[in-house]
Amino acid sequence: MSELHKFLFDGLPVRGMLVRLTDSWQEILKRRQAAGGYPVEVMHLLGEMTAAGALMQGNIKFNGALILQIFGDGPVKLAVAEVQPDLSLRATATVTGTVDAGSSLSQLVNVNNEGRCAITLDPKDKLPGQQPYQGVVPLFGDQHEKLENLGEVLEHYMLQSEQLDTKLILAADGNVAAGLLIQRLPVKGLGNLEGQIDWDTHEDQIGLNEDYKRIALLAGTLKREELLTLDADTILRRLFWEEQVTRFEPLTPSFACSCSRERVGNMLHSLGTAEIEGLIEERGQVAVACEFCGAQYEFDPVDAAQIFTHQNSRQPPTATVH
Ligand SMILES: [Zn+2]
Repeated sequence: MSELHKFLFDGLPVRGMLVRLTDSWQEILKRRQAAGGYPVEVMHLLGEMTAAGALMQGNIKFNGALILQIFGDGPVKLAVAEVQPDLSLRATATVTGTVDAGSSLSQLVNVNNEGRCAITLDPKDKLPGQQPYQGVVPLFGDQHEKLENLGEVLEHYMLQSEQLDTKLILAADGNVAAGLLIQRLPVKGLGNLEGQIDWDTHEDQIGLNEDYKRIALLAGTLKREELLTLDADTILRRLFWEEQVTRFEPLTPSFACSCSRERVGNMLHSLGTAEIEGLIEERGQVAVACEFCGAQYEFDPVDAAQIFTHQNSRQPPTATVH
């Protein structure tokens, strides 16, 4: 079963989280098999994004979806991981070019250093006209050097957007997508979980807190194989056996897709009558597959006509018309 563990370092301004997605990650991959699956390098990237998305959603108090997206300028044009407040999650990637064996992060999504990573917080109960919050970071470092590690990209995001020192270690294979997050906050103990930030003393300490640095350094010794194969208890014991760690009851991320016939209908509506009539004429029906879960939605001429007579709301598209 997939697990997300939260923990605190007693008396220190440091908290952590460890996620291991097993069944939920395997389900994401299984749903893609009908469409041929992912090249292994893309699968690794998407798994790391999904683990990171779960950690980032678990790290905030926010009633809405956290959407982690990479807009690539290489063979991977788009990769998306979306995590709801209850840690239900889904992910997909669009591969349009050839992925060479052993491709690095930059070879997948940042060939010309124009790839971007976006983090969107989309509130569940939006006020009229309210836009989701979105932060965007490049896939390069301070010297414009291409970053080859998604954890580093997101560490930059945390520092820029929230002034939080963060260590993020991610790994994925065909069975497990996992991540370890260590973060410095200026409030000790339980206050960390409540987000009670003392901003006056906070910014002064960026990159300087010795307790955070020691724990982040320990976290950095975690090897990919260990993160993928060891259970949470073993990992935390091995890394932090000299620290006083308080653990919390683990949460359980799960796979879920929010697509529906109604949403697909809204998406078709937004394409317009002419486009849909053209498809009906050509193929006799319109078939739409959800890119996240593989669900098939078919609209015959009667269904299609109804889309344009019974619509009153519009949703952003999340699927492709075939
Ligand atoms: Zn779906």
